[in-house]
Amino acid sequence: MSKTRQIEISYAIIDRNFSLIKSPCIEIDENNVLVGIGKGCKPGVEKIGNSILMPALCNAHVHLLDATLIELGEDRNLEELVSLPSGLKYRYLESIDLKIATSIVRDYLRKIYQKGVTYLASYFEGGRSTVNILENIVKTSPEIDMRSLLQPLTKNPESYTHALLHSFSDGIGMDTILDLEANELKKLVELAHALGKQVHVHLSETIQLLRRSDYEIALEVKPTVAVHLTWLPREKILELGKENIGVVFCPRSNIYHLSKIPELSVLIELYNEDLKYGLGTDNVAWIPPWIDEEAQFAYVIYREKLEGRLREHYAKSILSGISYSCIDIITERLRKSRLVLHLRRLHGIEYTNNVYITLVKRLSESIVEEKMLYVDNR
Ligand SMILES: [Zn+2]
Repeated sequence: MSKTRQIEISYAIIDRNFSLIKSPCIEIDENNVLVGIGKGCKPGVEKIGNSILMPALCNAHVHLLDATLIELGEDRNLEELVSLPSGLKYRYLESIDLKIATSIVRDYLRKIYQKGVTYLASYFEGGRSTVNILENIVKTSPEIDMRSLLQPLTKNPESYTHALLHSFSDGIGMDTILDLEANELKKLVELAHALGKQVHVHLSETIQLLRRSDYEIALEVKPTVAVHLTWLPREKILELGKENIGVVFCPRSNIYHLSKIPELSVLIELYNEDLKYGLGTDNVAWIPPWIDEEAQFAYVIYREKLEGRLREHYAKSILSGISYSCIDIITERLRKSRLVLHLRRLHGIEYTNNVYITLVKRLSESIVEEKMLYVDNR
């Protein structure tokens, strides 16, 4: 029989409903697999105060290569910065030094991992040099379960198909769904399904895109994930969710570039109906890629718009958007049978009046004390 050890901790979140166990005893085997969780340890067992066991974090949308372009063009607007192919960002990306870029991105990934993110979906813009960077990163960062989405710089079905077929891609990322015809996109989505890959698109990020009905095309084409939805009303976001399209929100990016918050109250309904959704941090060039800070922002900026009784529920829905629900989107292939869990130390969690609100507001203060695996053998 393998040897196990027991630890008494302050709290454990044990399921997708964020049910809490207070002062549980957890049992971990030699391979760091969680083998037991129950009420109270025997006297004399190791105790870690101000601690909580919860899923590893997940960031559903980031542009990692942007780490080489920090604060580029602070005097420009969103379109001047990122519209393909003439945006300032793409002109800079063409001339990045491969070695320097690889090292910058790797450093960011290390920090992302240290902060407790194990699941991540990132766009990778560009051509051959991007694939070289990606190859180096994937080889040296095995601890992050990353879904790499290639985004070609030329907008035609051939370049997207090529990107989808590439051995280093887990899918494609599109600047806007309007870059291709609906029938071309449908074929790409079918190919992605057949390959076990994904199609992510930015959707209704600006009022101009909404006016061009990108939302209706998404309903027809059914990409795997639609990101931003800044201008969509609640009902339309829910409609996407019910069509099994993962919906991802990046509120800090939206307020930074557009002074607009997406309809975040919809998170509660997405959570209640167990639809696929997540939070993301978008462009590293302008928004630091820390999902715990995104969660805090999402809570702080929208809390007052909600009736008091809904606030705790809103906090839970945000927490699911950076864990369970987000992980569902990113790791389709794993589903829920293997989940990385983190034991975090967070000052105040033991005596707070509300564990969920403390988590959503103060996760960035916490440190990851232990990493373990939960394996569902059912
Ligand atoms: Zn983006």
